[in-house]
Amino acid sequence: MGDLMRGKRGLIMGLANDKSLAWGIASKLAEHGAELAFSYQGEALAKRVRPLAEKLGSDFTFECDVADMESLDRAFDTLKERWDTLDFVVHAIGFSDKSELRGKYVDTSLDNFLMTMNISAYSLVAVTKRAAEMMPPKAEDGSGGGSILTLTYYGAEKVVPHYNVMGVAKAALETSVQYLANDLGPVGIRVNAISAGPIKTLAASGIGDFRYILKWNELNAPLRRNVTIEDVGGAGLYFLSDLASGVTGEVHHVDGGYHVVGMKQEDAPDI
Ligand code: NAD
Repeated sequence: MGDLMRGKRGLIMGLANDKSLAWGIASKLAEHGAELAFSYQGEALAKRVRPLAEKLGSDFTFECDVADMESLDRAFDTLKERWDTLDFVVHAIGFSDKSELRGKYVDTSLDNFLMTMNISAYSLVAVTKRAAEMMPPKAEDGSGGGSILTLTYYGAEKVVPHYNVMGVAKAALETSVQYLANDLGPVGIRVNAISAGPIKTLAASGIGDFRYILKWNELNAPLRRNVTIEDVGGAGLYFLSDLASGVTGEVHHVDGGYHVVGMKQEDAPDI
């Protein structure tokens, strides 16, 4: 328990269940006193998201499909009906056709390329634009502004088998973080990303041979383990609280150090 988020209100986008990265972050924020709203993708997810929101003391949940700009506008209208300001947003959303998260990137179809880019990268831009309008103006004493956090993966930087078009979308997402950070820095809004190591979630189960990726990271990361949603939650708390008041445009790895390793560890057995 702590008070790092006391008095701050934020929207969590991308909660599917209690394995979601969004759940790790939301739990940590609630522990530190944040007031939370949750958006879910479709009515089918509502019955999963509502009880989880309640566990964190929130009865504020509503639908938002980020591929649909009208749905996004409706979601932010709903938010504005109840809250006059917004301090932070967690964007934990990604999607691609499962059939193209295996095999070769060269086989990516145009339709899936555009859909993946739209849902996994452009949505951060669309969300940030709407969220920024609700964030309090920056004041002389340094208060005001806001913080936006998204989730990315190492497949944006290096080739990870099967990650394919999602890697290309994450690269666009990471560059968007930098451009958005620069656009909104003058009004005190910070935009950052956590590059999380592999974690078994609903979205991850769509990636070909994900178990192999998990095992490889566990054996080869400097910490010799996979990260958890609690690890990601801790870093999320840092970015969304005033602890990170001087940090923007950052892609921060929470991956047990995997991204610094250049080759297989000597002590890693063959898998
Ligand atoms: P998850 O399945 O729990 O969450 C993905 C969420 O995206 C779901 O809540 C889903 O409803 C939402 N979503 C998909 N399309 C949407 C749309 N059109 N509109 C609104 N919401 C939509 O999986 P997760 O692993 O927690 O994923 C969260 C984020 O973390 C994603 O961006 C993912 O790429 C990223 N990430 C995951 C890992 C991992 O290994 N699990 C690693 C690094 C980054």
